[in-house]
Amino acid sequence: MTTKKSPQTALIHTDYQAPEGFAAFPSAIHHASTVLFKNVAAMRSGDWKEKNAYTYGLHGTPTTFTLEARLAEIEDGKYCLLAPSGLAAIAMVDFALLKSGDDVLLPDNVYNPNRELGRWLSADFGVTARYYDPMIGAGIAGLILPNTKLIWTEAPGSVSMEVPDLPAICKAAHDKGVLVALDNTWSAGLALRGFDLGVDIVMQALTKYQSGGSDVLMGAVITRDRELHDRLSLSHMRLGMGVGADDAYLVSRGLPTMRLRFDAHDAAARKLAAWLQSRPEIGLVLHPAFPECPGHEHWKRDFSGAGGLFSVLFDERYTEEQTDRFVDALKLFKIGYSWGGANSLVMPYRIQHMRKNWPNKGILVRFNVGLEDVSDLIADIEQAFGAMR
Ligand SMILES: *Cc1c(COP(=O)(O)O)cnc(C)c1O
Repeated sequence: MTTKKSPQTALIHTDYQAPEGFAAFPSAIHHASTVLFKNVAAMRSGDWKEKNAYTYGLHGTPTTFTLEARLAEIEDGKYCLLAPSGLAAIAMVDFALLKSGDDVLLPDNVYNPNRELGRWLSADFGVTARYYDPMIGAGIAGLILPNTKLIWTEAPGSVSMEVPDLPAICKAAHDKGVLVALDNTWSAGLALRGFDLGVDIVMQALTKYQSGGSDVLMGAVITRDRELHDRLSLSHMRLGMGVGADDAYLVSRGLPTMRLRFDAHDAAARKLAAWLQSRPEIGLVLHPAFPECPGHEHWKRDFSGAGGLFSVLFDERYTEEQTDRFVDALKLFKIGYSWGGANSLVMPYRIQHMRKNWPNKGILVRFNVGLEDVSDLIADIEQAFGAMR
């Protein structure tokens, strides 16, 4: 390797070496549980942590090493570990960094299974998990206790869309020696550079934009610091977090087109959000690129794009029965969790029950804008508004 390539080019030109006499663009899918050693000395000298040898399928194959390198490149990180889902990646971080007696802070708008993991750690593992106002910013300093070890952030919250002040949170955390982990799934790592803002760990649900196919579950944990990576590696190994070779290949296959897809999702979502904002049925559009969204000023300062996921609050005159009718009437938007694939999705949330001090009225509905023609999506929503009224 000579000059450093831009991330977009590096996603397409990998360092994978095809076998002699064979050339093609895809990297090979290497299936292995057992990995063979040339002799006893080779077996004894191989160190899975150093990645200087292949030792066992769970500790990596050429297929997973290639994917890890590409994912680290996207985030401008150095090290990457793969997990069987985004949630497994979150659990890997918690089990690496928290032990009985420790304290973890999570934003009150955190991805709900992460909140549930916090509840479990509190109930059964002697860890305290506390929840903070996602707009707290530098004020988080007042919540940090001597036993606080980790602060989770999510930018933005993937249902209610507040964009936190990441540099302020990171500074307050680092002043007290606390690590910051960022769930960077919304931006796919393309529109938000977590490490540059000070976070220590970036987590991605590769299930979303990286895969792009709505057909695979995977997660990643990326770091720049070797000592931190080693702690995470131990948790990865001890919990047995392997990923299947075919799944790793599916995610790899999505990466070269991810930038184009992400930008297309972004443009379509902004068009749709602007149209929704003009509609009397909608009370508030919660899209980080729109000034009404809490933390919009942080999005403007820290992000270079937006992707396809945003929420709306219906005007408060509409009941849940009516907005459920709206969701049921949609034809192109299918009802389902997750995002990042070609198909548009919709999901109503009972946000008032999910959040401590939710200030707004009106039913929350989240849209994932896929890659369909936006005018068809607008027509679909328009006819569903009709069914609701
Ligand atoms: C989907 C998602 C996850 C979890 O990913 P899975 O692969 O579904 O477990 C975590 N965080 C956010 C913000 C997500 O959207």
